[in-house]
Amino acid sequence: MSVSEKPSLTILMGAPRGFCAGVVRAIEIVELALERYGAPVYVRHEIVHNRYVVEDLERKGAIFIEELDELPDGDRPVIFSAHGVPKSVPAAARQRNLFYLDATCPLVSKVHMEAERHHERGLQIVMIGHAGHPEVIGTMGQLPEGAIILVETPEEAESFEPRDSSKLAYITQTTLSVDDTREIVEILHRRFPNIVGPHKADICYATTNRQEVVKEMAPRCDMLLVVGAPNSSNSQRLVEVAKKSGCARSMLVQRAHEIDWSKVGGVRTLGITAGASAPEVLVEEVVAAFRERFEVALETIETRKENVSFKLPRELRQAAAQ
Ligand code: SF4
Repeated sequence: MSVSEKPSLTILMGAPRGFCAGVVRAIEIVELALERYGAPVYVRHEIVHNRYVVEDLERKGAIFIEELDELPDGDRPVIFSAHGVPKSVPAAARQRNLFYLDATCPLVSKVHMEAERHHERGLQIVMIGHAGHPEVIGTMGQLPEGAIILVETPEEAESFEPRDSSKLAYITQTTLSVDDTREIVEILHRRFPNIVGPHKADICYATTNRQEVVKEMAPRCDMLLVVGAPNSSNSQRLVEVAKKSGCARSMLVQRAHEIDWSKVGGVRTLGITAGASAPEVLVEEVVAAFRERFEVALETIETRKENVSFKLPRELRQAAAQ
């Protein structure tokens, strides 16, 4: 097909998109650990929810496991993923004298500390989040069983019965939909006027900013693609936010070869963004696939600049400086 025969397509690129500071830090921890301690380095759970990132680190010498039982005895380091772990995990590592590095995002650790503080004050905690997500398992695992009640939906927020309605606090998963969470928080405040909570919610800056730009883009798009993995909570939320904001044809795509071209018919304006664990190289791959088929005009929709970065664990700071 010659250039002139290609149909034209405007692509709106969301900004900010893709990697957040917690993901950058987690990947750097694995790479620096490989440099400093040599291969193999073990990683408990996908370091961040993205197959491309995981496979890249595997090629460099990382071995991914789900539980510490899979780890052979010896002196190999083990790294805990960005999502955080229940307290029982570092405790088990210490018991086996394992050397571990914690890549938990500092914004997740902050929620762990909030939960501890509430618990020390004798408050029962409501956690707004999704059952089974590693972050939720990690946060709930900071405290004894029963100290935290998980609430996933407005219906559950309406119906759960706390131990003592005057001694309640709430925390949230960091990667939720800002709007859906607000609805649940409003229900909690109505039912329990004394409930203690964070100033807004614990939803992190990266999740908030990526949703904000999607809200801006979606009404202009015939179709919107979120580059990200199905097990990435913040990527899934971006698809939901895009649909609610006016772009019914919004979907997740992991790699360019997954694009269902039969669904692209009639699209004049396409939105592209990426979840916090999706590398920019995958976004570029998707744009390139559209360039092969369309005469593309790119436009950036930027709602905010980000300049967040987090410190590395002490053990690796020197390696990073070198
Ligand atoms: Fe941290 Fe937010 Fe990134 Fe999760 S999405 S790793 S909480 S900055």
